[in-house]
Parts: sequence; structure tokens; C-alpha cells
Amino acid sequence: MDQFTIQKPWDMHVHLRDGEMLKTVAPITARYFARALVMPNLTPPIRTNDDVSRYQQEILAASGPGSGFKPLMTFKILPDTDPHSIAELAQMKDVVAGKAYPKGLTHNAEDGIEDYFALRDVFAAMEKHNLVLCLHGEMPGTHIRGRDRERAFLRTLCFLARTFPNLRIVLEHITTVEAVETVLRLPDTVAATVTAHHLLLTHDDVGGDRMCPNHYCKPVAKDPADRDALIQAAISGCPKFFFGSDSAPHPREGKTRLYDCCAGIFTAPVALPLLVEIFERHHALDRLESFVYDFAVQFYHPRGPATGFPPKLRFVKDQWTVPEEIGGIVPFYAGQELSWRVEEVK
Ligand SMILES: [Zn+2]
Repeated sequence: MDQFTIQKPWDMHVHLRDGEMLKTVAPITARYFARALVMPNLTPPIRTNDDVSRYQQEILAASGPGSGFKPLMTFKILPDTDPHSIAELAQMKDVVAGKAYPKGLTHNAEDGIEDYFALRDVFAAMEKHNLVLCLHGEMPGTHIRGRDRERAFLRTLCFLARTFPNLRIVLEHITTVEAVETVLRLPDTVAATVTAHHLLLTHDDVGGDRMCPNHYCKPVAKDPADRDALIQAAISGCPKFFFGSDSAPHPREGKTRLYDCCAGIFTAPVALPLLVEIFERHHALDRLESFVYDFAVQFYHPRGPATGFPPKLRFVKDQWTVPEEIGGIVPFYAGQELSWRVEEVK
């Protein structure tokens, strides 16, 4: 097969940033995705109805009025989030989820959460108002390190799923065998996003015989067995696993300084062609559309009637070279060749 067409995918976890960077990256996401769940970890964070409205307008302006791209909006859950603010946020049609970050463990998470139990009234309000809880699955605190942070967080995930049986929860950008197994074991209210880069990288690609800052993200890529479990989850046809790129652009300076290198990989320009290569290699191209579209729609089922015909994307087998830099940002696979090109179907 050297070309095929699918529904234009949804990216259920993306960082579009703000200011000049938003203007650079939003058109790229809009080109490849019909909808995307936009993360709220700006400075200051997106947390109120006004913040959401303003940011949504900025994204629509940056992505281009003719693109047809529709952002799905999120708000950031902070230790002082007022449970009463949730009802108001839920009234906004395009607000579909709240995101909880562990304190200090990823980009702009210094204001994040240490005690998830203390937020039970916020989670109860989200359950009542049918909002999705998106979780970065690493446990904060100084007593645990590395992979154990994710292991420990899975206990919190199980606790939340048990305590709030009608709350839809997404464990974001999973990286371990244990995360796959736990999500499979939990009820259908719990799902997970899988990135393209975690299907390709292992820990050695980040800091093996050489250091590669452009492969550094949070949570970091793990062992080959973890990567293989993620691939199996992605190609399994199980609706609990759908695509979220976690495309997280940083300026070149932020990724190349000796200390304090930023965590995050800019994958938006290459994620879909890479996924096609992975699914093709595993004889699972017939399951790609479910992974990048159907399962996200089924889990999130955002409000509002569908308008017009849903757009489609065509993949054409045709080698191209990924640019070394896009607007001051080094993309994933910079300078390397990919074997599939993406075209919009008019
Ligand atoms: Zn992220």
C-alpha cells in the first residue's frame, strides 16, 4: 500500500505555548489534527473561564481561520483550586478536562500538587459536571526517585478511580509496562494517552553512550520492554489507549544549555508519519485510525453537534527530510528521513 486516507486525527495532549511560539506551532498542529486537547501549563496558568476564553481565541487566531482546527480546552488544577469554580468552567462548551501536575516534576509545575487527597472536592465536582481528569503520572516528594515515582503514582490512580467511579480519568503519556497493565485492569472510566516518541525511544536514546537533549522529556523514556509494551497497547485496538503527542516545543537555547535543560520534545511535525511507520512495521495499519481518532472521540465525546463533513488526511509513501529547525525549535527527528508524507484531502 503506498497511500491511504483516514479521518483527520485528534491529538489528545499538546502544548501550544503562547506568544510567538504559539504562532509558530499552532499552524503545524492544525495542519495534521482536526482537534487537539491543549494543555494549560502557561505562565500564568489557564485556570478560569476568562483565561480559557482568551487562550482559545489566541489559538484560533494563530492556527489560521481557514484551518478548521478546533482546540479542546483544559484548565490547570492547583492546590488552591476552588471546587465551586468547576461548575462555571464546565459551562463552557469547549472545556473538556482539568489537568493535574505533580509539584516540581515537569515544565511549569512548581505550583503543582503534592497531596491529591486534599483535592477530593475538586475531583468530586469534576465527576458531577462530567469533566475529564488528566493526570501526569509521577509522584512528587523527595523520598522517591526515577521509575518509582510512576509506580507510586499508579496507587494514586487506583485510589482515584475507586473513589470517583464516574469520573473519567486519563493517565497521560504513559511510559511503563506497569502503567499499561494498571490501565487495562481498571474500569473503562480510565484510559491513557500514548505519545509517538515513547514508542521509539528508550532511556539509552536520551543518555546512553551520548547525551541527546532533544530526546529528553518527562516522564523520560524507559527500557526496551516498556517501549514494546506501549507499542502493543497502541496497536492492540483496545479503546483505552489513544494518541496524545505531548508535543512540547522549547526554543533551541532551552534545550541545549548545560544546566537546566528543558524537558519536552517537539513532535507535532513528525508524529503522524512516525506512527504510520511504526504501525506498518507491526502490520497494524488497519488500527491506526482507531488509535488517532475513534478512541479519543469515544472517550471524550465533546459536546456540541458535529458540523459539516469531518475532514480527512491522506498518507502518501514518499520520502522527505525533517527540517533541522522550525522557527527556532528543533523538531524530533531533525535532519532525518521519513517515509510517509501527509496531505489534507480537499
Ligand atoms: Zn505534556
